[in-house]
Amino acid sequence: MDEKPHLRLFDTHAHLDMPKFDEDRSAVIQRAEAAGVESILTVGISATSSRAAVELAEQYTSVYAAVGIHPVDCADATAADWETIVALLDHPRVVALGETGLDNYWKRTPLAVQQEFFRRHLRLAQDRDLPVIIHQRESQQEILAMLREARQRGPLRGIMHSFTASRDDAAQCLDLGMHISFAGMVTFKRSDELRAVASTIPADRLLIETDSPFLSPHPLRGRRNEPAHIVHTAQCLAEARGEPIEQLGEQTTLNARQLLGLEN
Ligand SMILES: [Zn+2]
Repeated sequence: MDEKPHLRLFDTHAHLDMPKFDEDRSAVIQRAEAAGVESILTVGISATSSRAAVELAEQYTSVYAAVGIHPVDCADATAADWETIVALLDHPRVVALGETGLDNYWKRTPLAVQQEFFRRHLRLAQDRDLPVIIHQRESQQEILAMLREARQRGPLRGIMHSFTASRDDAAQCLDLGMHISFAGMVTFKRSDELRAVASTIPADRLLIETDSPFLSPHPLRGRRNEPAHIVHTAQCLAEARGEPIEQLGEQTTLNARQLLGLEN
């Protein structure tokens, strides 16, 4: 009777193109499939990385690509890099724009430059009716202000990736049209507050992710993260919300597929 539960999971944020996967990328994707991860959205952080994400999505049927320039990397981005991002949107395996957003932690790129790139991503996502993937670090209020500005222009949808802010911030993001995605941080012992926030997210707006190779969930902290590890995050969220992991997996997979415009 130790048959594994039948799981359906969608990792909405991984960086499969990163060098940490160079040794065993195919095995990583196979392990994910074996763990029930039917799809992985691999997310670009620069023109080069976005091109690599698209190539992986061409190569593996379980992988889709998001293309964009990360707020920490946009200081180095050229006009040609931006043109590359725009051109990649025509590729059939590209289902989202990002990651973009604001990062007030690394201090590598002036805030004004980050805001200029974030605004560009938001406008382009709205023009193309694509979901936008948002990175936030120590800049939740600035991000909310820019999302409100975008929302005044028209409909907006996307993912608050690796969400770590408050319940009130989550409610505001939901009002603006965003989905809320939780990564390994929600499993950490000290994350009671974040688990409480997760339990308040409406079922149809909840997503899960690994942000691999970063941020391994408990009890795998300290190791390289990979999409198969999302099971621990799903289990933790299912417990916080008082539902079976199978149900949480099914619901978050359907949410991801609907948001990214994939057939259900
Ligand atoms: Zn990321």
